[in-house]
Amino acid sequence: MVSGSDMHGTPTTVKADEEGVSPETVAERYHALHTENFKRLGISFDLYWKTSAAAHKAVVQKVFLQLKERGHIYEAAMEASWCPSCQKFRPDRYIEGECPFCHFSNSRGDQCEQCGRMLDPFDLIQPRCKVCATPAERRETSHFFFRLSRLQEPLKGWLRTKNYWRPHVLNFTLAWLEEGLKDRPVTRDIDWGIEIPLKGYESKRIYVWFEAVMGYLTASMEWARRQGQKDRWKSWWLDPDSRHYYFVGKDNIVFHTIVWPAILMGYDEELGLPYDVPANQYMNFGGERMSSGRGVGVWLSELLEAFDPDALRYYVGAAMPENKDSEFSFEEFERRINTELVAIYGNFVHRVLTFTYKNFREVPPIADLTKEDRALLREIEERWKGAGQNLEYCHFKDALKEVMQLARRGNQYFDSKAPWDLLKEDREACGTALHLALRLAKALAVLTAPFLPFSAQRVWTMLGYDGSIHETSWEEALEDLPVGQKLKSPRPLFKKIEVSAMDLEEEAQRLDVRVGRVLKVEDHPRADKLYLVYVDLGTEKRRLVAGLRDEYGREEIQGKNIVVLCNLKPATLRGVKSEGMLLAAVDGKEVSLLLAGNAKPGTQVLGQPGTPMISFEEFRALKIRVDPEGKVRFFGSVEGDGMPLVVENEFVTVDRPVRPGSEVT
Ligand SMILES: [Zn+2]
Ligand SMILES: [Zn+2]
Repeated sequence: MVSGSDMHGTPTTVKADEEGVSPETVAERYHALHTENFKRLGISFDLYWKTSAAAHKAVVQKVFLQLKERGHIYEAAMEASWCPSCQKFRPDRYIEGECPFCHFSNSRGDQCEQCGRMLDPFDLIQPRCKVCATPAERRETSHFFFRLSRLQEPLKGWLRTKNYWRPHVLNFTLAWLEEGLKDRPVTRDIDWGIEIPLKGYESKRIYVWFEAVMGYLTASMEWARRQGQKDRWKSWWLDPDSRHYYFVGKDNIVFHTIVWPAILMGYDEELGLPYDVPANQYMNFGGERMSSGRGVGVWLSELLEAFDPDALRYYVGAAMPENKDSEFSFEEFERRINTELVAIYGNFVHRVLTFTYKNFREVPPIADLTKEDRALLREIEERWKGAGQNLEYCHFKDALKEVMQLARRGNQYFDSKAPWDLLKEDREACGTALHLALRLAKALAVLTAPFLPFSAQRVWTMLGYDGSIHETSWEEALEDLPVGQKLKSPRPLFKKIEVSAMDLEEEAQRLDVRVGRVLKVEDHPRADKLYLVYVDLGTEKRRLVAGLRDEYGREEIQGKNIVVLCNLKPATLRGVKSEGMLLAAVDGKEVSLLLAGNAKPGTQVLGQPGTPMISFEEFRALKIRVDPEGKVRFFGSVEGDGMPLVVENEFVTVDRPVRPGSEVT
């Protein structure tokens, strides 16, 4: 299980330009965030690394040269997009325009976000520079091309064996081949990326979509090297019996079903091709595709702050867009967790464990099995088989359904046996029933381990096992528990969740937050740390007292468009009345003003003028936080679904970078 962060994507350079930092800074920040999120989600890799690693680069360059030597890569002149106003060649992603296929108006020059087609910038209708909106021009430049046309037939032959793929993946790929593969340039006039290993090409780089997919091979090699067995990757890549699975989203299908297999075929025909690419479709939000740029969706890191990772995994597992788009909704999340995960699985495990622990403390012995008991054992085996087969075919939703059916069966069994009655009548029969219920709980622990790794471990430990459930085998689900194994004091597996029904919009109406232009900044006459900030709020002018003197010079605030909470009860600070509060994000000792771009003074950010005054404590209860993109979101009084602070369609942003999740006060 290997993967890594793609460090050379153009979104990285776009963001770096916006922030005025190096692409490396941005890429490293996201790499750290992804690594952390995977860990918190319980997704473990044998190696998760990054495409900026020297070992990755070296292999990419070797593959490049070999493909060139074998005639799969050739040099040719091409026309690239040139921005006459920026005086630069612009990478495809810096070109925007109308998609010629689905007519989405903001399609990118490399790929249409709406219909998923790979594009050339000049396929777009009216292509323009993303940075300055000037119509892009064609200008000649020389690049290396990947001769995809020559691999069309081998790819077709290979795809004939893929009748087990998800239909949407196979159909998408076949449609692509039917159109005929065009040779594609694999280098660009940019300076962020992997160098071309040839003299005279210093101003060009290998393009990201070509090298990032090689990361699967390079990560396998790196993994082997770190094991101290540097050829061990070969047993995965050269053994015809090994199967490679690529887990991606649908916008990545073409790179894994056409580009990457073509590279592998061209580079070394001994290397294993993808066995399956079980791409998911999209999980949308409020009917729209999630997009950080447009502020649609939820941040994983915020969800992980608020919820048990297994609860998130259960919901996403059960609502996974395997074959068609699905929808993330907090109501559905709450319903599934409370009525399925908690009420069925969590409830079963907790009932069995608390009852057995209280009355036996250990795994009780088995006496005679009834017909019902035998049927239960058979069902454990059938569900185990069903879940396993579904996992093998990458039918994850169906596999999870089998597991939940088994948990349901557990509750029925427990109810029908009524061990609380048996305990008084026939302690031996009671012990037998509990023993079998524990066996079912054990099977559930093993079966849920791939889906719910944290709670599976908790069940495992409560059942009296030492060590990690993730090191036990799948077959262990069918093995009996040792009689006399001591149980651990049980705790509830999951908590019910409550995603407040309170409408955020409604909560926002308790505030009057507006854009204010700073007219003048003075030192407070009687306090070292305070400024007097005079702001123009459109229809009125006000004076604010702000404790920013250690963090901001007067000239840094002067003339800026800041964000002002206007309905805060006035306070007198060292003899000067403050009529509101400017908003800033606080990250430990770091303080960053919220800025509102070029918005007009008085522009409403949240709520409306004339809203009743609130106290500082009331304001603090309505959380505003910085998201991982440096945008600012309003969360109201509950954790969960924040909404962006909007000013004329521009997000309010932080002036200086702060840690995601930093609170605004
Ligand atoms: Zn431009
Ligand atoms: Zn399109």
